[in-house]
Amino acid sequence: MQILGYHNHNFYCDGIESPEKYIQSAVYQNFKAFGFSSHAPFNFFNKWSISYEKLNNYCSDIDYLKAKYSNEISIFKALEIDFAPEFIKEFDFFRENYELDYIIGSIHYVINPKSKELLFIDGSKEAFIKNLKLFFGGDVEYAVKSYFAQTAQMITSQKPDIIGHIDKIIMNASDLILVNGEYPPWYLNEISNILDVVAANKSILELNMRGIYKGKWHTSFLDRKFLPLCKKKKIDFVVSTDAHSPDEVALAYENGIKYLTDFGIQHTMEFNNGRWLVLNQ
Ligand SMILES: [Zn+2]
Ligand SMILES: [Zn+2]
Repeated sequence: MQILGYHNHNFYCDGIESPEKYIQSAVYQNFKAFGFSSHAPFNFFNKWSISYEKLNNYCSDIDYLKAKYSNEISIFKALEIDFAPEFIKEFDFFRENYELDYIIGSIHYVINPKSKELLFIDGSKEAFIKNLKLFFGGDVEYAVKSYFAQTAQMITSQKPDIIGHIDKIIMNASDLILVNGEYPPWYLNEISNILDVVAANKSILELNMRGIYKGKWHTSFLDRKFLPLCKKKKIDFVVSTDAHSPDEVALAYENGIKYLTDFGIQHTMEFNNGRWLVLNQ
């Protein structure tokens, strides 16, 4: 199987190795395409994002690798950008200044619409629960609805190519949301609505496998049980490992492809000559 991995980190953000180490691992594992997507800088210091000072070096490193490995693999220069008005620049700023091949839009902080406090969704469960109490008064439904509203606003106003781990908030909030192991109606409604926004804007959804191979969630982000709904809404996918170390670049990728094909989604998207094309599995 040829692998196309569009969502990967490296030591410019919170990955652990140089970009070239990831490429060597990807070439060894027969990747057809490999995209770097470091976390874009916020307007405030944040230890997992690339800094503005390093952005140009990040870009030139990747441009160098594109040329060096051009006979072996297609390499892409991207960013995983958060949408958080007032806390990070608009996507067009990065698009226009860094000649990116594509953009992954992800939400890692939910903004409280009233107080503007930021709830980080991606740390430990304990920290999430504590901050949910502090910044959202412990109201998980309000936080989740704010998260999906922010995601919808990102899709319509920023137009990222790919929507990153669209339901990742469930990872730390599941104990507070699931009722006897099932999603409640209000949550299903949120999922259906956000998938409508994805479909209407022709965004590509990623099936992000990181939660599974890190042992932090039992299925993909998006939860694979929503794949029949995606098929009905004609949503296109890429499968992402969201690798932070070179040995993670292909982890659970095949499982992700299998999830899609099991539910009758027979193609993923391929970035080719500056455009997204359908690639049949
Ligand atoms: Zn992310
Ligand atoms: Zn990521």
